[in-house]
Amino acid sequence: MLLAGRLQPAEIAIDGEGRIASVRRTQTGAPRHDVGDAVILPAATDLHVHFRDPGAEGAAESIATGTISAALGGVGLVAEMPNTVPPVTSVELLEEKARRVAGRAAVDVALNALPRPATIPPLASRAGGFKIFLSPSPPIDTVPSLDELPSLLAQLAPAGLPVTVHAEDPQRFRTEIVPQDPPGWGRVRPPESERQAIERLGEAPPGLRLHVAHVTTRDAVVWLGARGISCEVVPHHLLLSDRSGPDARWKVNPPLRSETDRAALWGAFVRGEAPIVASDHAPHPPSAKEGDFAQAPSGMPGVETMLPLLLEKVRAGELPLAVLVAAACDRPARWLGQPVGRIAPGHRANLVVVDFRSRRPLAARELSTACGWTAFEGWTAIRPVEHWRDGVPIVEGGSYVGRPSGRVVRPEFAPGATPLVEAGT
Ligand SMILES: [Zn+2]
Repeated sequence: MLLAGRLQPAEIAIDGEGRIASVRRTQTGAPRHDVGDAVILPAATDLHVHFRDPGAEGAAESIATGTISAALGGVGLVAEMPNTVPPVTSVELLEEKARRVAGRAAVDVALNALPRPATIPPLASRAGGFKIFLSPSPPIDTVPSLDELPSLLAQLAPAGLPVTVHAEDPQRFRTEIVPQDPPGWGRVRPPESERQAIERLGEAPPGLRLHVAHVTTRDAVVWLGARGISCEVVPHHLLLSDRSGPDARWKVNPPLRSETDRAALWGAFVRGEAPIVASDHAPHPPSAKEGDFAQAPSGMPGVETMLPLLLEKVRAGELPLAVLVAAACDRPARWLGQPVGRIAPGHRANLVVVDFRSRRPLAARELSTACGWTAFEGWTAIRPVEHWRDGVPIVEGGSYVGRPSGRVVRPEFAPGATPLVEAGT
């Protein structure tokens, strides 16, 4: 397993509560489970998923299907976004979504709420975090302006919860362009609109746990890092450019960028400059992506393929394993204040077993996600062989064998803990 930054043989003792009791070269005790020379990693935490639950009629995912997809992809904790139907703007709606997790979720779920000035205090005592959309994202059509943003952030700071921002300035969108393909979509929503929104976050109150979703340029990653603001990069911006695919399956927000921008973002990720990787899993039904490009919704599925695609990059020698584990497992778990993401005593035994020889092309028909397609069809990937949750297997031989024991979790921060901001390894 990966210990102190390098792979070494070791045995993990798990206590009766499903927590890691100790990690040593050899352990005594029974029962024992031997994974041979496969690699044990902490299960990943995905800070950005949309499970459409509750959702519009015909939604291509639910908390039940999405969390099984996560489990198969080696993700043991997801942060669910509040732009469901209706959006999560009140304690009542948050609790309605929490009821959909209980008895249905395969992995743990942190629930984000949409901040409205009047409902911030009651939501702060129940939500797992807040999400601010600075550009409209269905079904949210009214968003705060950049001038209203500092006051909203000031109201959120006392809550102490993670605040995630979708940072694109709609005032900079070139809505006169009718996009026909991903490069056209990139012209409608250029990197400049992202930069304008991100730069306003420099006015955020100190101490706010601020995180920027799906950053697409290396410049933005570096700018945020220098100011102690967390951010995530997502596999589609790391691995795909605006020339990777011609149709609306490759339409995402923010858009796929040029190959030059993609390569720079990938380089930043490999060097550990981007603190967190998340999927922005947005499972649209295939029919929604088949029509007119300009009308098609933005987003692509990813929670089940994020770790497998990046594990293949590790195998190929293009990405250090320690960088991936820090960005996919450790830092996002600490961002949510959860005792997962590390193979260390006291942490929950949420673990995945990876056999780096078990490489296969991705095929949508073999994925669990209910939307039934992937933009990474045919890409070589390494899917976890096993996934353990609290010391109990939920994936064996690459198949889901778990029960819906996932819970709603909320951040548990030690008093006075400072926000997690550091990148590097
Ligand atoms: Zn999203």
